[in-house]
Amino acid sequence: MDMIGIHLRDAIEKGGCPVCRLIEEFEESEIGTILYEHVNDPSLREEFKKSLGLCPYHAWKLLSIAYSNPLYGGLGVAIIYEHMLRTYIEGTQRGETPQESECYLCRLAQEKESLTIDSLADRMAELLPVYEKSEGIFCKRHYEMLQERLGKSSPEVSRELEEIHMRKLNELKKLLNDFIEKFDYRSQESPSDEEALAVRRSIEALKGRPLAINMLKPKKKAGRFPLRGVSFGRRD
Ligand SMILES: [Zn+2]
Ligand SMILES: [Zn+2]
Repeated sequence: MDMIGIHLRDAIEKGGCPVCRLIEEFEESEIGTILYEHVNDPSLREEFKKSLGLCPYHAWKLLSIAYSNPLYGGLGVAIIYEHMLRTYIEGTQRGETPQESECYLCRLAQEKESLTIDSLADRMAELLPVYEKSEGIFCKRHYEMLQERLGKSSPEVSRELEEIHMRKLNELKKLLNDFIEKFDYRSQESPSDEEALAVRRSIEALKGRPLAINMLKPKKKAGRFPLRGVSFGRRD
């Protein structure tokens, strides 16, 4: 397995959606670099200006990362947003309506997302056994993107992935059912940690991690790859 494969394998083994996890780590590291090295970088400041200070999600994430690490602090954010506020005030005084185009970090995250899907698709045959054994479950969005890509290049891998993925979803559903049953007054046991965690894992499997990309509609229509109904039981 090459270095990228090892990186992907580690992300799968950590649990949850590996694509969401890698994007989350990527965003945090990009924000760290901005705050640590590029607060006064004119080209980056131009990128910020285009969206008048990022999208709401990334602006708040920038602030929370800044305050979570004493190495960054609030000064960098203050300098950037003083400029953004000045741009807004000056534009408004000239009678202009400042435009907010695509957020720079949203664009980078989408690029990272499609690169990650490509890297996974290229190595999925090798990674299938890792996926099968792990706590990882692709979220709906990233499963569909991956299958879209695999359906064209590796239909056999796509089929195997579907079988494993559906089995994992059913196992998760079973844990959730067991969790619910433990609340029955007749139940003698309290929920296990794994059952309690299933609530969070189910939300992640359906909606992905709380990331800006997961609030966007997928570029291509979902459901184009053939659904063979492996574990659905019925096809309608
Ligand atoms: Zn995901
Ligand atoms: Zn954004």
